[in-house]
Amino acid sequence: MRRIAIVGAGPSGFYTAKYLLEKNASLLIDIVEKLPVPYGLVRYGVAPDHQDVKGVVETFKQILTHERVRYLGGVEVGGKGVSLQQIRSCYSGVVLAYGASSDIDLNVPDEHSIKNVLSARRFVGWYNGEPDCVDVGNEINLDKVKNVVIVGNGNVAIDCARILSKNIDELHPTDITSSSISMLLKSSVENIYIIGRRGHVQASFTIKEFRELTKLSATKVHIDKDELSRGLTAASVKEIENNRPKTRIVDLINTVAVGDAINSNEFQKNNIYFKFLMSPTSFLSENKNGVKCVSGIKFEKNKLIGDALHQKAVGTGIHDVIPCQLVLKSIGYKSLPIENNIFNYQSNTINHINGRVVDKTTNQVVQGLYTVGWVKRGPTGIVGTNITDAKDTVKAIIEDIESGLIKDVAPNESPILTSTTITLDKYEKIDNEEIERGKNSMPIPKIREKITSIEEMIKTANR
Ligand code: FAD
Ligand code: NAP
Repeated sequence: MRRIAIVGAGPSGFYTAKYLLEKNASLLIDIVEKLPVPYGLVRYGVAPDHQDVKGVVETFKQILTHERVRYLGGVEVGGKGVSLQQIRSCYSGVVLAYGASSDIDLNVPDEHSIKNVLSARRFVGWYNGEPDCVDVGNEINLDKVKNVVIVGNGNVAIDCARILSKNIDELHPTDITSSSISMLLKSSVENIYIIGRRGHVQASFTIKEFRELTKLSATKVHIDKDELSRGLTAASVKEIENNRPKTRIVDLINTVAVGDAINSNEFQKNNIYFKFLMSPTSFLSENKNGVKCVSGIKFEKNKLIGDALHQKAVGTGIHDVIPCQLVLKSIGYKSLPIENNIFNYQSNTINHINGRVVDKTTNQVVQGLYTVGWVKRGPTGIVGTNITDAKDTVKAIIEDIESGLIKDVAPNESPILTSTTITLDKYEKIDNEEIERGKNSMPIPKIREKITSIEEMIKTANR
């Protein structure tokens, strides 16, 4: 009997399970997840007003209920949980699909000690009800925030700006937490600055997400034409040439900059300013009741140097300050190691060749150990990107099965399946409870009201 453990119940783990089930008719699969609940960033990352994307859980549910799949929730691998060695000893193969649960540092002094400077990951986790992030609601006091600066201009930055800008009725029907709605209702945010260190041609957001901002009912998007000119180096022009998606997004950015913004509403709830060619150098702060709170960011203006597709931002020595009461660092997620000898600390990913994990001390493939998803390739790509990635890793596993490299295991129960494990039937109790609570949630009924405490999830699961 061969049983594979997939560590992490996010998209990459589910797609790996899907293709393993398809390619091998007898393989058994355990999906091992740190939290009681599955779906990774589809539950805790994808914005609540993007329910079409979250709909992918219907595909994942089919995998969870497959007769050869078991869900083992509430089991952490590494850290204080079960060791990788332990889990490897009782499975034919292990696939590390545990994503990226930390943040890249900005490396600006005091970024971890000033109140209201936080990662976009924690902000997103807050409005999505991630247990580790619910305390953000006690920190940020949106009723006292007029200006927000978001550093980084990827799609996560756009998500944060959009959630801060939407009217509450536009967040229905969603699964945003009620506590976030209550805080957003009190918000006094007027201006949101989205800051890119390079130019508009290198901006990381995609056209659909950018266009969505320009169509918000009560928000006006502003872009400075001079900043666009400064970013339009000969190398940037080359980057746009013969690149249709880039041409389209640059055209739309130009349209907004010349004032033909699609949403030139009379009444504006708030403004979103896209700023380019700026890097933060320090935080300004003020003392409020003995607490150092952010009051602004000092930026250095940049220029671009280098060849097309390799342009870098370098400082010009000219500085500027944006006053603000909240800073969201949206410069990327970061994976953490669960074992040192397989982790590359430069790229913050697991060492691998086509999904087969490689020990960096011996430079040898670790037999029966594989990786997939953000922890394999870094924190970029949409849900669908994990399909091709999973196929690559599954190909390696199937080759190893066919060449006899994957061992059989005794058909005993997994040592991580204990009375405290959240199995599928237990998870379904949490799922049903959340859907029920959503129907009665205040101030608006919702698709679900997420349980945000692990303790309460476990209680509900064991009822
Ligand atoms: P994850 O989804 O992070 O899953 C990893 C899983 O592993 C998690 O469930 C985690 O709890 C678990 N885990 C972590 N550590 C351990 C451990 N030690 N032991 C056991 N389990 C562990 N893509 C889109 O297509 N559309 C969108 O609208 C979209 N919005 C996004 C919004 C945000 C804020 C972010 C960050 C990403 C978004 N994406 C979106 C991208 C998409 O979410 C990712 O491509 C995808 O989730 C990556 O899948 P993954 O399985 O590698 O990681
Ligand atoms: P991202 O797209 O990689 O964007 C990161 C941003 O941070 C870039 O603008 C980058 O600029 C900047 N940055 C990095 N280091 C910096 C530094 N030290 N100082 C200043 N800026 C810095 O990442 P993301 O926004 O976290 O998104 C992660 C992935 O999820 C992406 O692939 C995204 O498309 C996906 N996602 C998709 C959706 C959607 O489809 N709706 C929604 C959310 C997320 P440089 O380019 O100069 O490095």
